[in-house]
Amino acid sequence: MREIHHFIGGKSVAGSTGRWGDVYNPSTGEVQARVQFANAAEVGQAVAKAAEAQREWAAMNPQRRARVLFKFKDLVEAEMESLAELLSSEHGKVIADAKGDIIRGLEVIEFACGVPHLMKGEYTESAGPGIDVFSMRQPLGVVAGISPFNFPAMIPMWFMGMAIATGNALVLKPSEKDPSVPVRLAELWKEAGLPDGVMQVVHGDKEAVDALLHHDEIRAVTFVGSSDIAHYIARTCTEQGKRFQAMGGAKNHGIIMPDADMDQVVKDIVGAAFGSAGERCMALPVAVPVGKKTADEFVARMMEAAQGLNLGVSTDPDAHYGPVVSAAHKKRIEDYIQMGIDEGAELKLDGRGFELQGHETGFFIGPTIFDHVKPGMKSYHDEIFGPVLQVVRADNLEEAAALPSQHQYGNGVAIFTRNGLAAREFAAKVNVGMVGINVPIPVPVAYHSFGGWKRSAFTDTNQYGTEGIRFFTKIKTVTQRWPSGDIGDQAFVIPTMG
Ligand code: NAD
Repeated sequence: MREIHHFIGGKSVAGSTGRWGDVYNPSTGEVQARVQFANAAEVGQAVAKAAEAQREWAAMNPQRRARVLFKFKDLVEAEMESLAELLSSEHGKVIADAKGDIIRGLEVIEFACGVPHLMKGEYTESAGPGIDVFSMRQPLGVVAGISPFNFPAMIPMWFMGMAIATGNALVLKPSEKDPSVPVRLAELWKEAGLPDGVMQVVHGDKEAVDALLHHDEIRAVTFVGSSDIAHYIARTCTEQGKRFQAMGGAKNHGIIMPDADMDQVVKDIVGAAFGSAGERCMALPVAVPVGKKTADEFVARMMEAAQGLNLGVSTDPDAHYGPVVSAAHKKRIEDYIQMGIDEGAELKLDGRGFELQGHETGFFIGPTIFDHVKPGMKSYHDEIFGPVLQVVRADNLEEAAALPSQHQYGNGVAIFTRNGLAAREFAAKVNVGMVGINVPIPVPVAYHSFGGWKRSAFTDTNQYGTEGIRFFTKIKTVTQRWPSGDIGDQAFVIPTMG
């Protein structure tokens, strides 16, 4: 059985806890590897190495740090095929989608290559007589990143790009479900010239996460995962006096106006609802057609489109999507489908019981569509995180827009329309953090920033972009005077600038 070890101090380190997690191949349902789970002592080892390495790394000028990022980007690009295969074999997403996962992460690395410019401070000459004021951005020290299973390359690279470029050392605790790509990325950082200890990977579960949250040397924690855990991270970091980002779950809505281009809408929503088996925090699992005519046409066309989808093993180039990540997650999704039926929603297409010939033990679920879903239903309120599309009908834009605005999650939302004014007003008023106008998955590009609202993010700093630079640095402001030699009077009042 393949074993996945920690990456500490620039090398693979076998843990000694005797605790392991199973890593599956979701296409076959078989355990393909086991990953070590760290305890507090092992986390402590990684943090100590990080603290040592960080001082030297922070002292290196930002242009030289950026060169390591450029090199890392080249190495990842050169290894795209094998990284995508590794990713897809543990996650279950198809190869083309796995490449997208890697490329969206690389875009943040690319942005972070601009760190010499991005870290520049501000300067005011002669803020008072002979007095200049300037500010500088300095790294925090050792920071921790905790990532979810659904983007095993992109999300670790969000953390890596921003934390490392700004002169911090990062201890990453990736998802235990698909931990191999983060380890390979750590090896590539080393090959790119990153000093040992600046980027480390420690595997584990709650025990390793808690050790990071309670370690005095960890100055900040960036987390992406489900909302209850994100909330726990936020509470614990607050108690521990640590800076944090804590992104949570989602339930994104797509509003379809009667004037929308239905051909485009169907293409967009079939991909956004079922792509990656719905396991994306920016998936579109709720469609809100406005008016009966729009709803009837949309549901009929979606049924046709969904029934035409190919499910396959993650290496099948003709598959639109692959299996979900685990047997437990498959069961959870199927339970939500049953809940939807019990709550009185109309099940139009049932993906349960789907079996892929030759891969009967894989974790597959066919596309599922519910019509006449109502806001009071628990299956609507909760995040399902599977290939399940719920249609909630609305009579007008006001009623439609209230749904995402009032939902517990507020990650992304989309509106499909040809009416610019309606779209503009919707974007301004909706109570959600990321908005798409005729764009189903509005993940902001790397030089903007990513973050939801409400239970989708317990934080006020977004991921990456200039928000990421702010999160991973602290500002120091210097007020300087170079006296001419004349001794000034004693001052017993707070100095003002006249
Ligand atoms: P998860 O919350 O189960 O796990 C996330 C991380 O937290 C993992 O590293 C895991 O090991 C760790 N963890 C799990 N239980 C813990 C506990 N009790 N205490 C401390 N740490 C714990 O999430 P997941 O299933 O890996 O990922 C899917 C979730 O992530 C979905 O809810 C999805 O919407 C969300 N997500 C959000 C975003 C975003 O940016 N908002 C992006 C991607 C995924």
